[in-house]
Amino acid sequence: MRGSRAEQAARKLLDEFGLDDIIDVDLQDLVFARNILYRETLLGGCEGRIVFGNKGRAIITINSETTYLPRKRFTIAHELGHYELKHNLIHFDNVATLDYYKNGNQETEANEFAAELLIPGLRFNAAVAGKPFSPKLLEVLAEEFGTSISSILYRYIDAGPHPVAAVFSCNGRVMFMKKSSRYHRRLIDYTKLTVPHYSVAEEWFQEHIRYDKNDIQDVDLNVWFDMSWSRESDDKPMSICHEYCYISEQYNTVLSVIWED
Ligand SMILES: [Zn+2]
Repeated sequence: MRGSRAEQAARKLLDEFGLDDIIDVDLQDLVFARNILYRETLLGGCEGRIVFGNKGRAIITINSETTYLPRKRFTIAHELGHYELKHNLIHFDNVATLDYYKNGNQETEANEFAAELLIPGLRFNAAVAGKPFSPKLLEVLAEEFGTSISSILYRYIDAGPHPVAAVFSCNGRVMFMKKSSRYHRRLIDYTKLTVPHYSVAEEWFQEHIRYDKNDIQDVDLNVWFDMSWSRESDDKPMSICHEYCYISEQYNTVLSVIWED
């Protein structure tokens, strides 16, 4: 079987229940099938947790305040990942540990497990085949798989056919950057720095400008990419890429999606 240990564990779980995907499956049913106790209660700043009892029985608790279904499904899948991967510790998961880019072996593994469980590779490949990349496609896929835009975007970067980059920034600073391995350009590393001038992300942080999905902006390639080593910069001085921003006003975060035609 190919893929990481976490991905293999997710596929094994799907196989065991004879499922190709869990789009129409209530994740709580999988939890019950594993004889895990499930509860929802107020958890303060925590999204979910798993506690392993001394007789092998585990309890998964999900914050009852989480009403956004894709978030809740991801948290349950993440906690189930700790269980399936035999992470024998108590895990309290909050917005930070559930973030795709956070490291820490067991959290990364649980997130990988959740991604494969919610967006199985084979189903994903079939869903994107032959379709041009666009933010609209991400929305269609998020709807189809019942996940958040960011989950589907990171999945697309790892496994999708078109080269795409993502930049996550908060309060005007870049927190995390990632691109498809096949994207042949070099992203300028802005991690922990302010978002670059002339980026669409900057327009949000400085002027609160938000563009409609039907109004995709073009930015110069050298806003996001290191063009100093590229021979293309000589013959195509005005080369551009697209940047579309998913904005959370509540958290003042921007997820920039960057791609070329
Ligand atoms: Zn965790």
